Amino acid sequence: MSTIRAIRGMNDILPDESPHWQHVESVVRRLMTGYGYSEIRMPVVEQTDLFKRGVGEVTDIVEKEMYTFLDRSDDSLTLRPEGTAGCVRAAIQHGLLNMAQRLWYAGPMFRYERPQKGRQRQFHQFGAEAFGIASPDMDAEMILLTARLWRQLGVAEHVQLQLNSIGGAEARQAYKDALVVYLRERFDELDEDSQRRLDSNPLRILDSKNPQTQALLDDAPELANYLDEESRADFARLCELLDAAGVAYAVNQRLVRGLDYYNKTVFEWVTDQLGSQGTVCGGGRYDGLVEQLGGKPVPGVGFAMGVERLVLLLEACGTLPAAPAQADVYVVSFGDDAQRQAIATTETLRDAVPQLNIVQHNGGGSFKSQMKKADKSGARLALIWGEDEVAAGTVSLKALRADDKERIPQQALPLGELEQTLQALLAE
Ligand code: ATP
Ligand code: MG
Repeated sequence: MSTIRAIRGMNDILPDESPHWQHVESVVRRLMTGYGYSEIRMPVVEQTDLFKRGVGEVTDIVEKEMYTFLDRSDDSLTLRPEGTAGCVRAAIQHGLLNMAQRLWYAGPMFRYERPQKGRQRQFHQFGAEAFGIASPDMDAEMILLTARLWRQLGVAEHVQLQLNSIGGAEARQAYKDALVVYLRERFDELDEDSQRRLDSNPLRILDSKNPQTQALLDDAPELANYLDEESRADFARLCELLDAAGVAYAVNQRLVRGLDYYNKTVFEWVTDQLGSQGTVCGGGRYDGLVEQLGGKPVPGVGFAMGVERLVLLLEACGTLPAAPAQADVYVVSFGDDAQRQAIATTETLRDAVPQLNIVQHNGGGSFKSQMKKADKSGARLALIWGEDEVAAGTVSLKALRADDKERIPQQALPLGELEQTLQALLAE
């Protein structure tokens, strides 16, 4: 029969890699809690309209990357391509926005993109959103949190913070108009994608990858000259706070971000370690989004980072912790009586020392084959029960690793001493 394979761009995370994910996840979880953020978990599927209204109709995501389908009631549903829209929807729906809120989430996102290293169709994000605070101290907190994350993951030297302000809606509109006038005069020199965007989403032309388009932009009007007073002041304050906290950044005037909902601060953390998939984290302020999704006007700011890219970055930088041993102890037994005794004692041991990792041999087999499995398990110690041990009320303890073998001779332990002996041996 033909085998069934995973969908292109949707990867399995196999046992040898999941410890890397767990490492990143536990650092992020601790950090979010440490900054006062509470976890929120949203459904993976939402109404399609949420993303059309939230992310924006003329974005890459909504135009060509969404997994959208009709369910059996003919409702149009979409696998979430990002977390902010769903988080805002949930916060409005459950009345969380009457006070300042710090929220974080983690989970799979879906975009129909061309799969390559660091770019999947199912990928994973961590994100944080803070609602109700319009001042740039909140933007600074987001950035300080992410900066701390890079330090904790040991990759701070390999990421760079890019920062920009895209202003309020009016300032942005005035700038857009000026940019369109400038670019329309040079329409024929634009790449095809940018020609299309000139009508639909001209700001996105600023981050076109096309060198000729980038060269054209050198003489284009500059966003910074169009910023409103408030955006200018907030951006200056943000820079001041980052300077004071010792976080380095580069102001990138062409950073606009791909989603429609941003205003004022936008930022990205980029690395040169991952080729063209170099953005590991992106975020910014979105003061209009809550209202756009039917809530009261409540300001917001947030970021999202790609977990696959983070794991790849840690691999590239060699800062992953050593893989933990899978087992401390492997339990072997011969004969029905011995197995009964072994299983019962092992369960008592698990009660007494919950942090011990104990693998019990199941499925029988000769002494030799069981000991082979014990060796292969990576455990440091084997506990062995046979007829003799049952009769004597003991268990045999054997060291499995070369460097332990000399120090720890094989020995028969009275059952009453097992717990203490194991704890002493494994603590060394
Ligand atoms: P890119 O320019 O690389 O497509 P983006 O601007 O579309 O990124 P965001 O929507 O800002 O990405 O998402 C935040 C982060 O999520 C990105 O910085 C990246 O780390 C990660 N990410 C986005 N799309 C993917 C994907 N298809 N596969 C893996 N990670 C992704
Ligand atoms: Mg993208």
